[in-house]
Amino acid sequence: MKKAMKAKIFTIFPELFPGFLGSSLTGKALAEGIWSLETVNIRDYAFDKHGSVDDTPCGGGAGMVMRADVLGSALKANYKGGKIIAMSPKGKTLTQDLVKEYAGYDELNIVCGRFEGIDERVLEAFEIEEISIGDYVLTGGEQAAQILLDALIRLLPGVLGNASSIVSESFEDYLLEYPQYTRPIDWEGRTVPEILLCGHHQKIADWRKEQSIKTTQERRPDLWKKYLDSKRV
Ligand code: SAH
Repeated sequence: MKKAMKAKIFTIFPELFPGFLGSSLTGKALAEGIWSLETVNIRDYAFDKHGSVDDTPCGGGAGMVMRADVLGSALKANYKGGKIIAMSPKGKTLTQDLVKEYAGYDELNIVCGRFEGIDERVLEAFEIEEISIGDYVLTGGEQAAQILLDALIRLLPGVLGNASSIVSESFEDYLLEYPQYTRPIDWEGRTVPEILLCGHHQKIADWRKEQSIKTTQERRPDLWKKYLDSKRV
């Protein structure tokens, strides 16, 4: 069996982990050892008796910044190799392609920011890649890290019951997913599209592809362009 994917989280709120990752499929995968979790409390590496991890920004301005020396010490003592990233709104936007790339690492170290963020020098010194989960601002990197891990863990072998469900999902092949239906066939006068009940696999596959294309064209012209580019030889 493949070695467990190890997630090492650098945070000042270790109690937030595993959080929602402890439930459902990701929780089961954690219990089964498909992935493992270790948290490092950055505050344990503070130098003063108050456990200060932040200080005012050089040059002035609002808020506080995570100190380079405290976070640096936490990293020096606990970073044992593998990919290292920090959650940050100014990072590269997380995509399914990036999630797939990260799912290939044996060890993923994630630094969670708080306050106004992290002293830039730590990011440089440890060659940390910054990742954003979208163009909005959260209070902390812990929430973002859990979203990244949730997307990643479901791709690990043995986590999803039906591996083929990954293949037809949104963002695979740059197309959004087709609409899904289940029972009852008639719900308050709204019926399931007849084609899905015909039992003809090819016709159903064609209909679904058509629907995927239509939804992608309407909702995500950016993805539609990527799809067309990927088909060009
Ligand atoms: N002053 C910063 C925002 C800090 S928010 C700025 O303007 O860029 C505090 C922390 O929350 C960040 O250090 C980061 O770890 C996390 N965070 C906030 N929004 C995020 C996002 N969209 N993606 C990933 N992490 C985010």
